[in-house]
Amino acid sequence: MEIYLDANATTPVLPQAAQAALQALAQDFGNPSSVHSTGLKARALMDTARARAQRLLDTGAGRLLFVSGATEGIQTAVLSALTALRGRSDVQWLLYGATEHKAVPEALKHWNRLLDLGLEIKAIPVDTDGRHDLAFIREHAPRTGLICTMAANNETGVVSDLAGIEAALSALAGYWMVDGVQALGKLPMKLAASRIDYAPFSGHKLYAPKGIGLLYVREGAPFTPLMAGGGQEGALRSGTENMSGIAALGAVLAALEDGQSFRSAAELTRYRDALAAALREAFPGLVFNAPLAHVLPTTLNFAVPGLSSRLLQDLFDAADVRVSGGSACSAAKAAPSFVLEAMGLPHWQAAGAVRLSIGPAATAEFIAEACARIRACGESLRQNCLSPQDNAPTVGDGITRFMLDGACCYLLADAAAKRCLLIDPQPEQVSRLVQALGCQDYPLAAILSTSGDDAHRQAREILHADLPAALLPAGETDALGWPVGAGAIELGARRLVRRPTAEGQVLLLGAGDEAQFAFGEVPVAMLAPHTLAAPTHDDAALFATRALQREDAEPIQLDGMQLAAFVATHPGALLVDVREPYEQFLTHTPELPGVELQAMPISRLLNAIEPWLAEQRPLLFFCRSGNRSRQAAQALARLGHGQAFTLAGGLALMPGNVVHV
Ligand code: PLP
Repeated sequence: MEIYLDANATTPVLPQAAQAALQALAQDFGNPSSVHSTGLKARALMDTARARAQRLLDTGAGRLLFVSGATEGIQTAVLSALTALRGRSDVQWLLYGATEHKAVPEALKHWNRLLDLGLEIKAIPVDTDGRHDLAFIREHAPRTGLICTMAANNETGVVSDLAGIEAALSALAGYWMVDGVQALGKLPMKLAASRIDYAPFSGHKLYAPKGIGLLYVREGAPFTPLMAGGGQEGALRSGTENMSGIAALGAVLAALEDGQSFRSAAELTRYRDALAAALREAFPGLVFNAPLAHVLPTTLNFAVPGLSSRLLQDLFDAADVRVSGGSACSAAKAAPSFVLEAMGLPHWQAAGAVRLSIGPAATAEFIAEACARIRACGESLRQNCLSPQDNAPTVGDGITRFMLDGACCYLLADAAAKRCLLIDPQPEQVSRLVQALGCQDYPLAAILSTSGDDAHRQAREILHADLPAALLPAGETDALGWPVGAGAIELGARRLVRRPTAEGQVLLLGAGDEAQFAFGEVPVAMLAPHTLAAPTHDDAALFATRALQREDAEPIQLDGMQLAAFVATHPGALLVDVREPYEQFLTHTPELPGVELQAMPISRLLNAIEPWLAEQRPLLFFCRSGNRSRQAAQALARLGHGQAFTLAGGLALMPGNVVHV
């Protein structure tokens, strides 16, 4: 069962809301502008939904329009306010909170340019708790045309001090917009009693479908329609209404009013505290990125020293727990969260942030299961030497690759000889390497650099400072870390020798005459036919190159539906799970009857390439999303494997009866 903890991105549709939407689609499908009874029925449904929203938000004599979502509400509010500012020489600024959703500053820039107002757009600073600088607001208010301050933040859940902001706005020249998206259903809002001019809301953040939202406009606040046409919504927002969306939103608002489906703030706080306790237990050293006393009881934003946001997201996903890094919009990019940066948090916290958010319809059973899964994630880290504390010992053998911004560091270990060595470590990787070396507990024979890069030297120095003496290399070394006077470094059955190059050195690892691996910037001419060159940088995810390879070879993509046919036609195939051990620990092993399974994490792929190339057995790679397995299959195909397959779309798209994750 999936545990969905990403409610600030979007929520599922409440069953009664889905039911109401279906009814509006199939039975009560009228156009509320029609005067016959089918139309009248639709109008009545719309009026009822609006009346509920008016009661819940205490809109008084203000207007409440149905719009497509918060982004449209924000555009309409900004257009309305900015249109009213034309010709006013007393205003100079448009202000927005530095942690506002991107829709707000982008709308300000867009309409300021289109209306040719030439106003200066300024971000209101926030403190480390994420709260607005009230002195800044007070100082700028007399020359501000529009100020935008969200009610609660989508990434951190930080609740704004709206009363404090209102007090600071006593001399405001223009208008005030409050983005209420994350507050709806979680915080009481009494709009007419405040001086808020505009407040947009979005249905899909509170169990209604995507494509429906609300915009509150205070009585007397200026209004310019974004859409002109048939005159719907009193000509303020033309276009035939999204009736299924309105019906569903109406059902959600009814649930809010009857108090049955949603938990109270006190109950949600208990849930949040339970989740926070499970997180602290699973990830010792975890820090919350905003003080819990100031955040919605439905949001937790945190970072764990030494663990990237990406790793934590993969870990949660393996446990079938959906969370997000920073905010959903930035999930595709590895950029640090601008919200956390605006709060002045250290880079590692802003770059390593994970957001966990629940909806107010969460139940005690759901929270208990979420806590159990979070604890299992912690256990997976301990078993796989990634926990900040209490890691179990591990057996290190073969080559493990550690990546940092495209640069590759290699840890070579020999379990029988209990020796290991490091190639090209970076200073930022040291804590992770110290952890890995501590878990396997083999002394390092050397810490080598292939290029003489200063970063490698720095990493060597920090490792010398941080590692227990028992694990450190003994004796004097040269500038590249090579033991002075040594012709070779013995690593169990294999030995490492070096060849000087113009930049530094190439390190050759092997047992016989022909090296199995070459590390460093290796000229192709230097490579024996079967030697695999392990790159120093691998942005293109090549993993290894060799003298003879087929540059244009492509892996064969399979989808879930082709699996049965694949098994029938490739009886000797090997199914290769390239996910990392901390992911594999959390999920059931996929079952593909009759097919042998091998776990070969992408970080250890180098070890398997040569045996697989020699064997030429059909290989079907899979991972969570299909990305890593495609890279692995591509590498094998390029290096000369004739039957490298990848499961496109990964486990996420597998039919449930074939693979249970
Ligand atoms: N404002 C906030 C605070 C949000 O969280 C979001 C959605 O992420 C929006 C605005 C935009 O809402 P929508 O995508 O429904 O237009």
